[in-house]
Amino acid sequence: MQTNIINGKEIANQLLTTAAEKMAAAGKPVGLAVVIVGENAASQVYVRNKVNACAKTGISSTRYDLPETLSEAELLAQIHALNADDSVHGILVQLPLPKHIDAEKVLETIAVEKDVDGFHTTHMGRLVADLPSLRPCTPAGCMLLLQSTGVNLAGANAVVVGRSHIVGKPMAIMLINAGATVTVCNSKTKDLAAVCRNADVLVAAVGRANFITKDMIKPGAIVIDVGINRLEDGSITGDVDFAGAQGIAGAITPVPGGVGPMTIAMLVHNTLSAADIVLT
Ligand code: NDP
Repeated sequence: MQTNIINGKEIANQLLTTAAEKMAAAGKPVGLAVVIVGENAASQVYVRNKVNACAKTGISSTRYDLPETLSEAELLAQIHALNADDSVHGILVQLPLPKHIDAEKVLETIAVEKDVDGFHTTHMGRLVADLPSLRPCTPAGCMLLLQSTGVNLAGANAVVVGRSHIVGKPMAIMLINAGATVTVCNSKTKDLAAVCRNADVLVAAVGRANFITKDMIKPGAIVIDVGINRLEDGSITGDVDFAGAQGIAGAITPVPGGVGPMTIAMLVHNTLSAADIVLT
């Protein structure tokens, strides 16, 4: 069997081109505030990529680089100021935050209509109810990648490995809403390999390099690899044994160049939505 490579970079670039066109047609300024606390190297890269994507589409993004020693109260005050600033349509607080800051509290402080990451409990609740909301970027991007393969999710067996608030859980809800029969796995799941082998659609969001091996993939399955794992040589790899999956999976996302660019494209999408510019 030939395994198709799902080109997330290309699909994301198409979305960004459409976003730029819609921005130009709307003819109004759109502002995104990107808040980063501390010097986490990976976070710095993610924020740079997000800011660059905004620049390509015409969104004016402002970075708030805050020191690691910032208190929770100071960060909350910053969020309140951004909530009140009419030139700011979207607010993104890059995770993880330093341990002394309660991330949940910070995310809940962002004005719902400006929460372009879609993590606020209001957005999560509306997602569960299948109502319009700002959707968490990574799983929303994964859904578009699945759509690009033409797979019929209604009735498909979908397995999501990982249950985090930002990826696994919302991913599972989106698949449920699309009519798939969904199993969500975690670190305690029994016989994970057998569960995965039952998946027509397999989403890996674990954070362990090459964790999903070829014997865990059903022939013909569509595999979405969310993982970003940095190897000792500095290169990046996913959660799935990409080479091993060749000839078994029907389609698979590469890392890099799969889910990562889609996350950024969906952030741009959400920022335009927050500014009442509709993309689709
Ligand atoms: P978390 O660490 O929050 O969650 C990892 C999940 O994997 C947990 O639910 C955990 O289970 C589960 N898990 C861990 N070990 C096992 C195991 N042995 N068997 C089954 N499940 C297991 O990570 P995130 O969800 O935040 O991120 C996951 C990966 O995706 C990371 O590599 C991250 O870098 C990447 N990522 C990529 C993005 C992109 O744009 N491409 C965006 C966001 C994240 P339990 O709950 O029981 O602990």
